[in-house]
Amino acid sequence: LASKSDTDHQTIVKLSDKVAFGSKELVIIGGPCTVESWEQMETVAQNLSAAPVQALRGGVFKPRTSPYAFQGMGEEGLKILAGVRSRYNIPVITEVMSISQIEVVAAHADMLQIGSRNMQNFDLLKALGQAGKPILLKRGLAATLEEFVMAAEYILSHGNPDVVLCERGIRSFDNYTRNVLDLGAVAALKQITHLPVIVDPSHAVGKRELVAPVAKAAVACGADGLIIECHPEPEKSVSDARQALSLEEMVNLVHSLKSVAAAV
Ligand code: PEP
Ligand code: MN
Repeated sequence: LASKSDTDHQTIVKLSDKVAFGSKELVIIGGPCTVESWEQMETVAQNLSAAPVQALRGGVFKPRTSPYAFQGMGEEGLKILAGVRSRYNIPVITEVMSISQIEVVAAHADMLQIGSRNMQNFDLLKALGQAGKPILLKRGLAATLEEFVMAAEYILSHGNPDVVLCERGIRSFDNYTRNVLDLGAVAALKQITHLPVIVDPSHAVGKRELVAPVAKAAVACGADGLIIECHPEPEKSVSDARQALSLEEMVNLVHSLKSVAAAV
């Protein structure tokens, strides 16, 4: 189901009447790693909706490496996302870590994110077939492209055709950058599947000063969109502070990406 037949078929995944992945228009998703407060998300929504960024992100169920690290605001965070969603008329995306979270997240968000750590959680993937919302499927920490596409196949074959793939870097020997962004994978996925493909430069590089150049390269490489972490006070982010852009840096990047997209 995921593979491209020899026609030029391209799946379009709609988030709203105005926002769709896989159309000619680049879709930029921005927001903090973690939803922390009403004030934080209000400031983010205000600045990014004017940029314009087409959708907001923010984790409320967080897959943290340490069980002692902040695990996310849970349902309280979902209410914050739903609040800015309706006030700013902008779609919101957030991560689902387990089958039991699907229903409540689908009731508050426009798209469900499946994080790298769950890319091969097959029971979760099957359940997403009936989630009734588009899915943003992130590439596993060390997943081959075949494994990645087959994970999407689980969702498609269980009844949900709206899957967007996200390359977010893979593990390698050098940790100077957090991961290694596989731009070859972006080009390859565009050829082997009809699903939209976006890139997460933030988790790929892990350092804010490297996000902009890599984001531009992703667009030049044919990505249908980007998901980028930013925060009103980047150094104070409760998670992934080192890779968070300031809102000003984010807005500037969005503007400079327009000319890259126009050239592709
Ligand atoms: C995230 O988007 O905040 C996240 C945890 O990403 P990944 O699953 O790619 O590590
Ligand atoms: Mn993060």
